[in-house]
Amino acid sequence: MPSRTDVDAVIIGAGFSGLYMLHKLRNQLGLTARVVEAGGGVGGTWYWNRYPGARSDSDSYVYGFTFDEQLWREWEWSERYPEQHEIRAYLEHVAQRFDLYPDITFDTRVTSATFDENTDTWTVSTDSGKPLTARFVIAAVGALSASNTPKFAGIETFRGESYHTGHWPHERVDFTGKRVGVIGTGASAVQAVPLIAQEAADLTVFQRTANYIIPANNGPVPEPVREERKQDYAGIRERIQNSAFGFELTLLEKGAAESTDEEIDAVLQPRWDAGGFGIWLGSYVDMFFLDEANAKVRRFLHDKIREKVDDPETAELLIPKGYPFGCKRNPLDSGYYETFNLPHVHLVDVQANPISGITPSGVRLRDGSEHEFDAIVYATGFDAMTGPMDRIDIRGRGGELLREKWAEGPRTLLGLMSAGYPNLFTITGPQSPSVLSNMPVSIEQHVDFVAKMIGELAERGAASIEPTREAEDAWVAENQALAEATLFPTADTWYMGANIPGKPRVFLPNLSFVGPYRAKCDRIAENDYEGFAFSGASAGPPHHDREQLLQPRVPR
Ligand SMILES: Cc1cc2nc3c(=O)[nH]c(=O)nc-3n(C[C@H](O)[C@H](O)[C@H](O)COP(=O)(O)OP(=O)(O)OC[C@H]3O[C@@H](n4cnc5c(N)ncnc54)[C@H](O)[C@@H]3O)c2cc1C
Repeated sequence: MPSRTDVDAVIIGAGFSGLYMLHKLRNQLGLTARVVEAGGGVGGTWYWNRYPGARSDSDSYVYGFTFDEQLWREWEWSERYPEQHEIRAYLEHVAQRFDLYPDITFDTRVTSATFDENTDTWTVSTDSGKPLTARFVIAAVGALSASNTPKFAGIETFRGESYHTGHWPHERVDFTGKRVGVIGTGASAVQAVPLIAQEAADLTVFQRTANYIIPANNGPVPEPVREERKQDYAGIRERIQNSAFGFELTLLEKGAAESTDEEIDAVLQPRWDAGGFGIWLGSYVDMFFLDEANAKVRRFLHDKIREKVDDPETAELLIPKGYPFGCKRNPLDSGYYETFNLPHVHLVDVQANPISGITPSGVRLRDGSEHEFDAIVYATGFDAMTGPMDRIDIRGRGGELLREKWAEGPRTLLGLMSAGYPNLFTITGPQSPSVLSNMPVSIEQHVDFVAKMIGELAERGAASIEPTREAEDAWVAENQALAEATLFPTADTWYMGANIPGKPRVFLPNLSFVGPYRAKCDRIAENDYEGFAFSGASAGPPHHDREQLLQPRVPR
C-alpha cells in the first residue's frame, strides 16, 4: 500500500476546475486535499484576464456550475455574458459557500511533480515552501492559462507601458490621451479594442490573421426569460450535458451545401441578430467538413463585414482569407468592426509586413516603418492546452518527463490521464472536448469522472490507476482521425498549436462532442474501466473495504 502522505490529493489551480475538484474530494469523498494556485486569489482565467471588456462569450445561465441546484438558483448574473469581475465574484462565492479557502495555498506555483514507483506517491514541489506528498495529483491548470508573448527582438527595450491581456494589472489601466498599439486580433483583442479605442488618443491594431467575428448582442436578460430558465434547472442541465458543445445549441440536419444563398440567409440572419455562438455551433454541421458548404457561410459573413466597415480597403483586410469559418475560436464582438470606422483607429496588416521587432519607442515592421506608442498591449493568447502542463517538470514512471513524452503532441486516454503517470489526472486536458465546449460543462464532467475513478480505487483497494499504452495509442489515433475528417486541421490556429513556434502541429482538443464523449466515459467505467490498469495492493475486482480511503479525515 502507498505510504503515508501529507494529503491524499494535490490539486494544481483554483479556477472552476480546482474549486470543484476540491469540493468533490474533500466534501463528498472525505479525502484531504490541498489546492496550490499561482495567483493571489481564486478564479483562474477570471483572476488573470482583467483587460477592458473581458467577459465570457458563453451565456451566463450556462457559464457556471450545475452540480448544486441551490447554488445555480441563488446566483444572479447581471447580463447575458458575465464580465470578468462578476465571474470572479461568483467563484469567490463558490469558494466561500463550500468552505474551500482553508485548503488553498495562493501565490505559489507548482514547479515539479515526481512519481515514486516504490511508494506509489507523488512529490509536488513549488516555488515556495516545502514539497507536498500526495497519492493523487489533479492538474486543474486550465487549458488557457499559459500566456504567450512572442519573442519579438528588442521587446525589453520598449520605454512605454507593456501589458498582456492574460495577466492584466489589478488596478485600472488608463489609456486616456495615449498612443496605444494592440498586437493580436483574437477573442481577447476583439473584446478589448472597442474599449481601449474609447480612451486612447490613437490606436493601432496589428493583425496577422483576420477573424470571423459574430455580434455578442450583450445586455440584460429579460425577466420572463430569466424566470423561465429558473424553472427549468433540470432540463437545462440535461440538455447542455448531452449537447454537442455544452450549450443549448443544436446543429442543423440540412447542410449548407444543399442550401441556396437565400435559404442560408434565412437561417443565419436570425442567428446573427440573436448574437452568440448560434452561427458557429448551432447552424450547419457540414461547414466543418466540406469547404463548399463552408464557403456559403463565409459569403454571408463577408457581406456582414462589408456592411459594418466604412472603408472598403479596411473591410477587405478584416475579411478572413485562406481558412474556413468555424475552425478557429469564434470571437464575439461588441462594436469591434465599427471601431475601425473611427478616425483615430488604424489597422495594420502584419501578415504582409510582419513585425520585425520592438524598439524603445514602439513597433518596427519588416519594411523599416516604425509606429510609436505610449503603451503596447499584447493580445497574443496562450500556449493552449499543453502549455500549462509543459511548464511543470512532471516525472512519471522511470523518471520520464511528461513534456518529453508529449514532444510530438499530447498522448492521453480521454484527455484525462497519460500512461506512465499513475494517479495524475488532467481536468479538460488535451484530447478531451475542453476548449471546443462551454467549459464548465466539461469541467464538471471531468471532475465527477476523476472522483469516480478515485472512488473505484478505494473499492478495489488498489494503489493506482493509469491508462494502458494500447488504449492510449488508440485514443491518440482516434483523436487525430476525428480531426482529419474535418476542416479544422486546415487552419493555422491554437487548436493546432500553430501560434507557438516549434509546437507540433497536432489537433489538441477532442471532437467527439460533449454528450457522446460523456457517454463514452460512462461506458468505459461500466465496462470495468476498459483501457485503464489498476495496480498495487489488491488491484483486482472491487471489494468493499472503502473505509480506508473514503472516511473523512483531518489534514495530517
Ligand atoms: C479571455 C478568456 C475568455 C474565455 N471565455 C470563455 C467562454 O466564453 N466560455 C468558456 O467556456 N470558456 C471560456 N474561456 C476558457 C476558460 O479558461 C474556462 O471557461 C474556465 O475558466 C477554465 O477553468 P479552469 O479552472 O479549468 O482553468 P483556469 O481558469 O485557467 O485556472 C487554472 C489555474 O491554474 C493555475 N495554474 C496553472 N499552472 C499552475 C502551476 N504550475 N502552479 C500553480 N497554479 C497553476 C493558474 O494560475 C490558474 O489560476 C475563456 C478563457 C479566456 C482566457
